[in-house]
Amino acid sequence: SLTDRLSGAFKHLRSKGKLTPADIDATIREIRRALLDADVALDVVRSFTGEVRERALGEEVSKALNPAQQIVSIVNEELTKVLGAGVDRPLNFAKKPPTIIMLAGLQGAGKTTLAGKLGYWLKDTGHTPLLVAADLQRPNAVTQLQVVGERAGVPVYAPEPGVQSGSSDVVSPGQSTGDPVKVARESLRVAQEKLYDTVIIDTAGRLGVDQELMTQARNIRDAVQPNEILFVIDAMIGQDAVQTAKAFDEGVDFTGVVLSKLDGDARGGAALSVASVTGKPILFASTGEGLKDFEVFHPDRMASRILDMGDILTLIEQAQKQFDEDEARQAAEKLSEGSFGLDDFMAQLQQVRKLGSMKSLLGMIPGMAQHRKELEQFDEKEIDRTEAIINSMTPQERHEPKIINGSRRARIAYGAGTTVSAVNGLLQRFEQASKMMRRMSNGSRSMPGMPGMP
Ligand code: GDP
Ligand code: MG
Repeated sequence: SLTDRLSGAFKHLRSKGKLTPADIDATIREIRRALLDADVALDVVRSFTGEVRERALGEEVSKALNPAQQIVSIVNEELTKVLGAGVDRPLNFAKKPPTIIMLAGLQGAGKTTLAGKLGYWLKDTGHTPLLVAADLQRPNAVTQLQVVGERAGVPVYAPEPGVQSGSSDVVSPGQSTGDPVKVARESLRVAQEKLYDTVIIDTAGRLGVDQELMTQARNIRDAVQPNEILFVIDAMIGQDAVQTAKAFDEGVDFTGVVLSKLDGDARGGAALSVASVTGKPILFASTGEGLKDFEVFHPDRMASRILDMGDILTLIEQAQKQFDEDEARQAAEKLSEGSFGLDDFMAQLQQVRKLGSMKSLLGMIPGMAQHRKELEQFDEKEIDRTEAIINSMTPQERHEPKIINGSRRARIAYGAGTTVSAVNGLLQRFEQASKMMRRMSNGSRSMPGMPGMP
C-alpha cells in the first residue's frame, strides 16, 4: 500500500542526516506512484514531479531539520499551487444582474444535479436564481430539472408554454423539443422581467465528446454571453479527465471547473489533471446526490486528499515522536548527571511546538479525527508564555532553578510581563517533569508525557 511504501521511504530518510540525490529520487518515485494511484494523468504527473524534484534538490531541503518532511511540504505546496494558487476562487457575479452561469460537460457528469445545488446555495445566500432547461436532447431532461428545482425551491424556466403567471413561477414541462439557444436567450428576458439575479443554464451532454454537442454549447454561449461557464466533470472519470477537459476548454473556453462525485472513492486526481492542463480554477465540489452535498472548493484540502496526506502526516508524526524520544533519552542522561535545567526544558517545549504548528494541517484530515483531541490540547500561546518566562531568567537560574527565590520570581515575572503565580506554575511543572524523567532514567521504560503541556 501507499502507506507502507512511504513508511519505508521515510524510515530510510529518517536515518540519514543529509539527503543524496538518490534519496530524493526514491522519494519522488513514491510520490509519483501516489499521484498515479490517485488517477492523475501521466503527463501531468511527469511535469509535476519534475518540478518537485528540482525544488527538492535545492537548498531548502538540504538545510532542513527533517528533509523528508520538507519534501512532503514542497509537494503539498506545489499541489495546492496547481489546484488554484492556494486561494478559493469565488463565483464571478455580473455588475449588472442577471449573472449568467452556463453549465457544460458530458452526459452524467452531474450538471442537472449541480444546477439544483447551485440554485439552492445561491438562494440561501440571498440571491434570486432561475434555472433554465436548455437540455432538450433527452426527453426527460426538462422534467428532471423541474424536479430538482422544486426540491431546491428554485423556479425553472423551460421551453413551451412560456412562463406562467399565477401562484407558481415554475413552468410546466412542455415538450422536450425545441431550440436550446432560443430557450437560453428567452430566459434572460424572463430574468430581467421577473428580477431574477442569477440564471443557471443547464445544457445537454453526450456520452463522449462530439462536435455537435460542442457546437450547440458554443451557440448557447454566444447567444447569452455567460459570466461563468462551468465545466462539470465527474471526479471518477480518472485518466480520461485530461482529454475531456481539453475538448471542453477548446470547445467552449469554460471559465471554471466543478468537480462532481467527490463523495466516491475518487482520490481527486482528475482535479489536478484538469487544473494543470487547462489552468482554469476549480470553484466547487459536488459530494453527493443531495441538495446540500455541495461545497466551495479548497485547493489545500484537495492537495491533502490527492496525496493521502492523512497517511503521510501520520508517518511524519511518528517520525517526529521518534525524534522526541531520542531527545528525551538525552535529557534523561543529563538528568542522571544532575545537569538537566530549564534550557533543556525549553528545548523540549520547542519539540512540542513543532507538532503544534502542524495542528491546523493535521486537523483538516478526516483520518485524523481520533487525534483531534490531542491536537486541540496544543496551546501555542501557553508555550509562548512559558518561553517568555524562561527567557527572562539568567543562565544561572535556568541551570539551577533551585536558586529562584521570591524576589527572583518577582523580577522574572516582571521581565516576562506575567504574574508571579505563572512563574510558580512553570517551576512546578518543571519540577514534575524532572521527577518524571528521573523515574524514567531509573529504569522505567515508559516515556514521559510532554513536559511542556500545561
Ligand atoms: P448530467 O447528465 O450532467 O445532467 O448529470 P446528472 O445531474 O443527471 O447526474 C447524473 C447522475 O449522477 C445522477 O444519478 C445523479 O444523481 C448523480 N450525481 C450527480 N452529482 C453527484 C455527486 O456529487 N455525487 C454522487 N454520488 N452522485 C451524483
Ligand atoms: Mg442533465
